[in-house]
This record gives sequence, C-alpha cells and structure tokens, in this order.
Amino acid sequence: MTGIRLFNTRTRTKEDFVPIDPANVRMYVCGPTVYDRAHLGNARPVVVFDTLFRLLRHVFGAGHVTYVRNFTDVDDKINDKAAQTGRPIRDITDETIGWYHADMDALGALRPTHEPRATDYIAQMIAMNETLIQRGHAYAAEGHVLFDVRSFPDYGRLSGRSVDDMIAGARVEVAPFKRDPMDFVLWKPSTGDQPGWDSPWGKGRPGWHIECSAMSFDLLGPAFDIHAGGIDLQFPHHENEIAQSCCAHPGSGFARYWLHNEMLQVEGKKMSKSLGNFFTVRDLLDQGYPGEVIRFVQLSTHYSRPMDWTAAKAEQAEATLRKWRGLIAGAEPSVPAASVVAALADDLNTAGAIAELHRLASEGDRARLAGSAALLGLLEPELGGWAEIAGPDADVSDLIAQLLAARAEARAAKDFARADKLRDGFAAAGVAVKDTAAGAEWTLAPGFDADKLKGLL
Ligand code: AMP
Ligand code: ZN
Repeated sequence: MTGIRLFNTRTRTKEDFVPIDPANVRMYVCGPTVYDRAHLGNARPVVVFDTLFRLLRHVFGAGHVTYVRNFTDVDDKINDKAAQTGRPIRDITDETIGWYHADMDALGALRPTHEPRATDYIAQMIAMNETLIQRGHAYAAEGHVLFDVRSFPDYGRLSGRSVDDMIAGARVEVAPFKRDPMDFVLWKPSTGDQPGWDSPWGKGRPGWHIECSAMSFDLLGPAFDIHAGGIDLQFPHHENEIAQSCCAHPGSGFARYWLHNEMLQVEGKKMSKSLGNFFTVRDLLDQGYPGEVIRFVQLSTHYSRPMDWTAAKAEQAEATLRKWRGLIAGAEPSVPAASVVAALADDLNTAGAIAELHRLASEGDRARLAGSAALLGLLEPELGGWAEIAGPDADVSDLIAQLLAARAEARAAKDFARADKLRDGFAAAGVAVKDTAAGAEWTLAPGFDADKLKGLL
C-alpha cells in the first residue's frame, strides 16, 4: 500500500499517515458560512482537500473514506443579510448552498460523504455544552455559556501560543460576565427576530466553534484522522474546537492530523473588494474560465504556500488542458502512474504531480496521462463548462460553415439585414468570426451555445 505522509500542523512535522481504522478513514473540513457566493479563496480548501479525498479513496478504497464538510447556516453575517434584504434566513441559506454546490461541482470537487447543516445539530450542541459545564470546563453567565480556557492546559498548543500571549496580541472581546478575556462563547442569547432555540440558558443560538465539535462527534466519533481548513481558521476556531472536543471527550485526542492551506491572493495582492480584485468562483465561470482551469491553477501551487492567482497562469493552464484533452481523446484511462501517486502521497505535492503529467504528455503516454489526471480531478469527461469549448464536433463545424455561406450569400445579394442578423447571431451563440483575406475564420468562445446557432438557419 502507498505510504502517505502529511505535514501535521499540530506537531509541525511531516508524519506517516496511519489511520485509526483503515476500513473507515475519516476527514472533517470546515465548510463555508452560507450568506454569499464562494470566492476564489474559499475554493482553495475545497480543491485541495478534494484532492486529498481522492488520494485517500485511491489508497484505502472508495468505500473506506468518510469525508464531512459542514455548512455554517447560523451566523450573524447571515442575520445581517436577512435584515438588509427582508428575506427569511432559510431562503438565503438554501439559495447559497445551491450556489455553492453548483460552483464547487464546476471545479470538479466530489461531494463529501456528509454535508451537515449547523441548524440540524442544535440539540447536539446544547448537549455538548451541558457536558462541558458538568465537567467544569464551561460556565453559564447572563444567558451565555462560556468556555473556561484556563481549565484546559493545552489551550494554544495547535497554534503554539500561550493564553497570556494571546491576550496580549489578540483583539479579544472583553465582557463583564467573562472570567477571563480569552474565554469564548459556546452559546449566546437571542432577542427580537434573531434566530433562537430554547435551551437550559434561555432562548439563544450557538457560538460558531461548537458546531464543528458537535457535528464531527456525531458523524465521525470522538477520535478521527484528519481535520482541515484554511490557515486563518487555526486560531481561534481550531484551537477552540480542540478545547471543546478534548474536554467533552477526555482521552479521545480528537483529530490526529491537522492540515491547513495557506491563503490565495490575486496578482500578488490580498483579494479585497476595495482593490477591485475580488472574484467569486461564479464570476470567473461566467467570464468563460472552465472550472477545470481554475482547479488546475489552484493545484499548481503547494497548499502550504500562499497561492497567487494570475490571469497569465489561467491562460497557460487553459492551453495545457486543451492540448492534453486533444491528446487523450479516445484513450482508455489506465491506472494512475506510480510517480503521480507518489507525488500526491508526499504531503499532497500537487505541483510535482502536475510536473509528472507534463512528462507523461511529452512521452505520449495517453492512457496513463488520462488515468493519472483523474486522480487530481483533471481531464475528466464530466467537468462542466469545458466540454463545449474543448473542440467543436463535426455537426457544429458543418452548421457554422453553412451559416457562413449564408452570410456570404446575403452580402452578395446586398441583404444587409440578413447578414447583420447572422453576425449578431454568431456573437450571441459564442462563435468569434474573423474575416481574413483567405475567407472567414472562426473559433468557439467560452460559453458557446449550439442551440442558439441552430435558431439562425
Ligand atoms: P468562511 O466561509 O469565511 O468560513 O471560509 C470558508 C473556507 O475558506 C475556510 O476554510 C477558510 O479558511 C477558507 N478561505 C477563506 N479565505 C481564503 C483565502 N483567501 N485563501 C484560501 N482560503 C480561504
Ligand atoms: Zn470548524
């Protein structure tokens, strides 16, 4: 069996990956807060840990891996959006989850085994809070429940900070009912039209961190293999999850391997709305980037390094994928090349794996290129948005030739209305036509729609 090695943030070393139960390898990844479209940075953990999921399925068997990624559907940002728009919360979260699925599907990300919504686990969160209070790790005060960080000596170990350093460095919310400024909220009161559930502490709603502890316990048990997310979640979110889970289930150890992806930037700068370089995944798909191109660019940088999204990289990725798709057309995918599996097994060296794909392509090893790319979720037939622009089929070429001939006839007959209609029709269908001395040349633009072309006949 291929030996996988992973860089474990908890120990700051690359370790052999030994699952607790190879018949059921378990991974939890913190998912999105659902109030808006996922941006390009949000896609990074999705693509990176989807690739890990694929590798685990390859090594341990597809039926032996359980992958959980949650939806945070209770959060003050969602409440704010509901207040601004006057829409019910459930409408907003349902719509956003639909968008998320469509956008991440377009990137070739497999759906996780379970995608729990936080609001379906309120009872489990309340029960966990009660356990933490009973064990002396949490206390109720003024309708809140707070975790007592001084009761957990390991608090800060994941991120390598002491509680006193954190207090000095962090913007902590000081509140009169907190015993220590670092104590964090497990439950808070809800008033007015804020969403709320009955609890032993009055009507209220969970703090953010408790949902992942409650859902991972329910779906994966007290101890599981991998916990992952963006590096921005390491502190305080993951630190707090560890405190909650380890104190509620002493001796379990919670997650064994902690993986964190670094942040994504755009053209060397932090992505931000004020800089005008903020993109959602949907923005790029609508601009005509196939999801596969976005995936390829994301995988070309190791997850532990900051990744710089540039238009130049996307162009290059598109050219490479076009070439490879042409090369593998009609080839029956073989098992992945050992070199590609080895690169991925080495702490998910996706850049190394892509270098190997280039080598297979240059050797003309079509079957192995197709089979190996599939392990990275690339060159798969079902990847949306790309098939239409990968290359026209014969019917489309015939149709375009017919329409170009009709346009030439219309021009010759000085029927300019007909000629203009055809010109506009090509543009609307996504066919770029260039008139050259040698005649009309055409290419299919992203978003090409053959049905619109048929309407022109
Ligand atoms: P959120 O919806 O803000 O909780 O984020 C969902 C996921 O996206 C988390 O795993 C974050 O760590 C990750 N994330 C957010 N911004 C970026 C970014 N710029 N680069 C990479 N990952 C990010
Ligand atoms: Zn989480």
